[in-house]
Amino acid sequence: MIEVEFLGAAQGVTGSMHLVHTPRGNVLLDCGLFQGRRKESVERNKNLRVNPNDVDAVVLSHAHIDHSGALPVLYKRGYRGVIFATDATRDLCSVMLEDAAAIQMHDAEWINAKIARGTTNMDPVEPLYDQRDVEGVMSLMRGIPYRRTQQVLEGVTVTFYDAGHVLGSALVALDIDDDGDLKRVLFTGDLGRHAMPILKDPEVPPNASVLIMEGTYGDRLHPPRTRMEDDLVEVAEGAIARRSKVVIPTFALERAQELLYTLRRLHDAGRLPEIPVYLDTPLGLKVTDVFRRHPDCYDDETRKLLAADASPFDFPGLRYVQSVRESMEIDARGGPCIILAASGMCEFGRVVHHLKAIIEDPDSEVVIVGFMAQHTLGRRLVERRARVRILGVEWHRACRIRVLEGFSAHADQNDLVSFAERVREHGPLRHVVLVHGESPQLAALAKKLDERDFPSVNVPAEGERLRF
Ligand SMILES: [Zn+2]
Repeated sequence: MIEVEFLGAAQGVTGSMHLVHTPRGNVLLDCGLFQGRRKESVERNKNLRVNPNDVDAVVLSHAHIDHSGALPVLYKRGYRGVIFATDATRDLCSVMLEDAAAIQMHDAEWINAKIARGTTNMDPVEPLYDQRDVEGVMSLMRGIPYRRTQQVLEGVTVTFYDAGHVLGSALVALDIDDDGDLKRVLFTGDLGRHAMPILKDPEVPPNASVLIMEGTYGDRLHPPRTRMEDDLVEVAEGAIARRSKVVIPTFALERAQELLYTLRRLHDAGRLPEIPVYLDTPLGLKVTDVFRRHPDCYDDETRKLLAADASPFDFPGLRYVQSVRESMEIDARGGPCIILAASGMCEFGRVVHHLKAIIEDPDSEVVIVGFMAQHTLGRRLVERRARVRILGVEWHRACRIRVLEGFSAHADQNDLVSFAERVREHGPLRHVVLVHGESPQLAALAKKLDERDFPSVNVPAEGERLRF
């Protein structure tokens, strides 16, 4: 009997974590950081929902922090087994987890200094982990090429297929010997979209009997990408006309490169007006370097561009910001400019300070290009709240807010339904389980799948176990 325990990103979108119990041992799929209300996040991330002694192997779908960011906590708690990932995911984790540790240290120092000065009512903060824990994780991580089958435990193998979501992202196929009965559990991690810039399209792995599928955008359809380009031009022109700033919170991985790639294309086409663009994340350059090391993950168009030009993410006017001092100087300077800064959900990192600097300025604009989880600052901005708390201080929000959904790296409802249909065409699919989405999105997706006569569609709650 195979049993899957849904420990995180079940009826929610962050902290992806599922434990697969097989007859010979347990495999943990993903080990992500939870993001939401600050207090709850700290508690949940510190007190991992999985006991490291119950984990025999870890398989990681991709490098985004909400899928990989709690691995150092697992290590700190004593996990010393292997962590399997694609080669590109392993390389990305090395820079991203290091960055996560550094951000936690800076945030803790900054908040604790404010507490000491009596200028915030927040609770004292302690970093979840440090560089040594990250080094420990990296020593356990084994990179495997796509489509090469690798033994994980006795009676369990893994094969990674292209997920088309971010560099290195994988659809994880676990082939499990269930006392003589071979079953394939297919976990999508985050599923990408077709015909997106840079990456190859998602594959359809054959022979799945159980599909654990994400549903972040299970209830909606994305607008066409061409409209996003027009919107970006409009954003730049607006900033110039008002001599103001634009802040774009972005994941340092993929979304940032995709935005740069799009701005570069607009520049080459003569459509981007002259405006300084800052990529303000120390990760920016490092991640871009990892991109350059893995051209095998690119689609043909990007490979051609890369062959003709060493830097498909560069254009005149773009500055990579490295130091904290440089970052603070941007806030002291006037507009117009565009600032791309991490983190994606506005809960930590440099973007928080840039948001604080413009929040009361009616001429400045925040442009949202990614999904914002419930109870994060990013979500409150999407909801256009009049008052928002930033680092323990309440502000009146006067700045403009614009939401561009077409940049999403996630499949939309049509993509998800057609992916599930194609998996069914290529195997004996008996169970579909929906994860990584908030309840309304997953309910809408489940309904669509029911209408198409999928045999068993489940939406487990956190902590629930299902048997297959
Ligand atoms: Zn992701």
